[in-house]
Amino acid sequence: MLKANKHYLELKNSYLFHGIKLRVNAYLEEHPGVELLRLGIGDVTRPLCPAAVEALVRAARDQGDPARFHGYMPECGDENLRAAIARHYEKFGVKIDPEEAFVSSGASDELGDILSLFDPASPALVMEPAYPAYVDASVIVGRRVITLPGTRENGFLPLPEKGLEADLIYLCSPNNPTGAVYDRAGLAAWVDYARARGSVILFDAAYEAFIRDESPHSIFQIPGARECAIEICSLSKTAGFTGTRLGYTVIPKELERDGVNFNRAWVRDRTTRTNGVSYILQQGGLAVFSPEGQRQLEDNLSVYRDNARDLRRALEKAGLWTCGGQNAPYVWAACPVGIDSWSFFDLLLREKQIVATPGAGFGACGEGYMRFSSFASPEVVEEAARRLERL
Ligand code: PLP
Repeated sequence: MLKANKHYLELKNSYLFHGIKLRVNAYLEEHPGVELLRLGIGDVTRPLCPAAVEALVRAARDQGDPARFHGYMPECGDENLRAAIARHYEKFGVKIDPEEAFVSSGASDELGDILSLFDPASPALVMEPAYPAYVDASVIVGRRVITLPGTRENGFLPLPEKGLEADLIYLCSPNNPTGAVYDRAGLAAWVDYARARGSVILFDAAYEAFIRDESPHSIFQIPGARECAIEICSLSKTAGFTGTRLGYTVIPKELERDGVNFNRAWVRDRTTRTNGVSYILQQGGLAVFSPEGQRQLEDNLSVYRDNARDLRRALEKAGLWTCGGQNAPYVWAACPVGIDSWSFFDLLLREKQIVATPGAGFGACGEGYMRFSSFASPEVVEEAARRLERL
């Protein structure tokens, strides 16, 4: 009889968003008609920029025109889009070859798929609190997960510790859920560790567009990273593509372990397991990287940035310790003393009609904290900030 992958049974049920939904629904049943201020979601609310919309519509028309119709696209991505991604990296002073940029359907797909490059016997390191997909993607393939605690003391930016034995290292900066961002020295410590041990860093740069100060946007801004890192990026939060789906992954040509060149292996993987991302979406992506697209998406980003600033200020006025919100769309706030994150969730819901995300849902180190998302409308954020100030 066929044997199943029993690792699926080891996945912990995600009680986080289900738990939130249950509590919100119960509250709304008791208080019909109440308008909640929803700051819990990590999904965007602003529409795609006009340049992307025009390109998507034009590309859809191409598909109905025999003279401009496109069939299968190259599995690793349209060469113009790969070149545009390489040019995007030049803004950070990073030189990559277009053949090192792989077009994907988004970061989530890649965070799971990319694991097939590595032996499941090699343990993965996740810094908690963490985006839940890192742990789950490793559990599904039977990979052991080691965790390193993010705390208020280390600014939620853990560094390599003595005796740490991590082969695959997940790094997320700017971080979901804490909004913390590594500086060059912090990332350099991880690059040095990975090179010395022969580990590989999976750098999740889904929120790089939110950085406004000198913090690195890319792990490849750190010398030596080309020999030890893969970067996974997405247009979801940068350009509002959560429901449109497009991302990219950078694998340097010199990255090798154990006789396997990961760039060549990924070309082989993509040509076997995908038939590329749709022509229409890639045209939308090209428009995002055009000068016009880049100008337009700044308008959306600045709305979220202002929201994050206002939320952070309000939480601080209320006397809560905060992190993030300056170079990230998330503000991470300590719960009032003596209150755990689900109790604080209930308090915000019942007293202020605000929905946020309890930190406990991002791993044990998240207990005692709350994540506030800036992806709501400015009107919702303004009202929420007014209520939070008077907590
Ligand atoms: N990585 C992080 C840290 C995220 O927060 C998210 C989405 O919320 C993703 C990856 C997934 O992005 P995508 O929409 O491209 O799958």
